[in-house]
Amino acid sequence: MGKNYLDNIAIVGSGLAGLTLAISLAKKGIVSTIYEKENEDNLGGMGIQITPNGSRILSKLGVEEPLREIASKVESITALDGLTSRRLFSLELNQFSKGDELGYFTCHRGKLIRILCNKAMDLGVRFCFGKKITPQGLSPHGVGFSSDDGEEFHASLLIGADGYGSQISQILNPAGEKHKTDFVALRGLVPTEKLRKTEFANGVNLYMYPAQHLVTYGIDMGKVLNVVAIRPFEHLVDTEMDPETIKAGFKYFQFLESLLANATEIRTNLLYKGIIQPQWFAGKICLCGDALHPMPPFLAQGGNMAMEDGWVLASSLCNNLNLTDALNLFKSKRQQRLERMVKYTNSQAWINHLQGGLMYQLRNTTMTLADRTVPSLISSRYSWIYKGI
Ligand SMILES: Cc1cc2nc3c(=O)[nH]c(=O)nc-3n(C[C@H](O)[C@H](O)[C@H](O)COP(=O)(O)OP(=O)(O)OC[C@H]3O[C@@H](n4cnc5c(N)ncnc54)[C@H](O)[C@@H]3O)c2cc1C
Repeated sequence: MGKNYLDNIAIVGSGLAGLTLAISLAKKGIVSTIYEKENEDNLGGMGIQITPNGSRILSKLGVEEPLREIASKVESITALDGLTSRRLFSLELNQFSKGDELGYFTCHRGKLIRILCNKAMDLGVRFCFGKKITPQGLSPHGVGFSSDDGEEFHASLLIGADGYGSQISQILNPAGEKHKTDFVALRGLVPTEKLRKTEFANGVNLYMYPAQHLVTYGIDMGKVLNVVAIRPFEHLVDTEMDPETIKAGFKYFQFLESLLANATEIRTNLLYKGIIQPQWFAGKICLCGDALHPMPPFLAQGGNMAMEDGWVLASSLCNNLNLTDALNLFKSKRQQRLERMVKYTNSQAWINHLQGGLMYQLRNTTMTLADRTVPSLISSRYSWIYKGI
């Protein structure tokens, strides 16, 4: 039934969305090609939290064994008032996965991507690294695209898994919502041997300050502390992504300076409000991952949702339907969950960045009270996410 769109699938982007899609297709006997603008040895990143919904997909992809060598299992997320160090709530994470599952873990993103690339290569997925792709347009038989070095390509189906700022998304959504920078993130990797004991608690720790927050967790088997500090973007100050300027804006983080003093790597990221692009697909082009729904990391779900997308898109494409029906199936399976996810993530931005004063105190009191009396209220905010697809 018109399934020749599976003959020559091109996936743009070797991130979590693109790799999950390629591996899932390959496991069903469909070989695709991944075009990635970076070189193979430059697919890094810093720490990443993989939540049970994402780790279940990774298990289905067949990478559980190598992952166990790089994954640090997380037992709890603890939220603290940064000003007083008072615990606001703690979420036990073992309730969201079975004992033998990978569950909630943290790791270095670059190592996770390497494991997925190896798996994809073993399954015969073709990779074209160092190719920055620009789509040329639609044709009745497929889609043409070229790379920045002038090479021309053709595919029966083009998947835009090219992340935030996706060029492919811009073709489908030329009048798409223009993003205003909302937040700025300062990230650092610090060897734990260089830290004082008080600077490193187990699990994922979320320190909430007026209008700012800080997340820390261990990666590389606890040898490295991943630090993510986030505050609103100040339009008059943060014109350049200079780490020193960005750092100076974190006025409540007395210990951020000392925490990052021994960082082996520091990066900055601009963050934007979560949205879902209006046009998911057109003709023989479809979006997934951040290209479809960029979202800030306040619930650590951008990468996890990207993997869910890749998995569901592969199963929709292999459903013996014509292309439009297959892509509509993908959309119908993902839309409700993604809309809820974006809504929750944006509301978490508000919760994490209250300015202080009455609302700040009210939030802290509510969290502390819920933690002591109805912890199920807190878990219910996360359980639908971690339960997965
Ligand atoms: C500070 C911070 C912390 C985060 N923490 C978490 C977390 O803990 N957990 C979580 O799940 N998510 C987290 N995220 C979000 C997560 O990183 C993204 O949502 C996720 O990486 C999206 O995956 P993707 O495959 O859609 O896109 P990407 O990972 O962005 O991959 C896109 C790929 O496409 C390539 N590409 C782009 N354009 C082209 C082109 N024209 N031609 C060829 N290749 C191209 C890029 O080089 C890249 O390799 C965080 C994000 C930030 C900023």
